Amino acid sequence: MACILIVEDNPVNMKIVARVLEYAGHEVLKAAEAVEGLRLARARRPDLVLMDIMLPGMDGVAALKELRADAATARLKVAALTAYAMKGDRERLLEAGFDGYFPKPIRHREFIASVAAMLGGGDSPHGSQQGREDDG
Ligand code: MN
Repeated sequence: MACILIVEDNPVNMKIVARVLEYAGHEVLKAAEAVEGLRLARARRPDLVLMDIMLPGMDGVAALKELRADAATARLKVAALTAYAMKGDRERLLEAGFDGYFPKPIRHREFIASVAAMLGGGDSPHGSQQGREDDG
């Protein structure tokens, strides 16, 4: 069980991701935009931050930079949660400093397994990626 912060402006996606994580036993913190996400990250130091990229105002990449620039949050695990699925996006986001990448829409079972791997393992920069193959 972990504390996971979701920063996501789409209420439907937020509901789905939160529900899946809560069903897996995790505590979920929710922010609909980056500034609130940064506030919660500093206040609660979640085990994992799932960061949407397209957010109103500050986007997810800028929010990640803010987290990394603050000693209180610099070492938090932060994964991109994004509908970007173009070739090269995963590499671009990992290069931007995200610890992992979860394409939307999530597939529940793989998503939970990837989150667990990310929470458990510390040092593999590629340990948390979700595959693109259908698994039924
Ligand atoms: Mn969004």
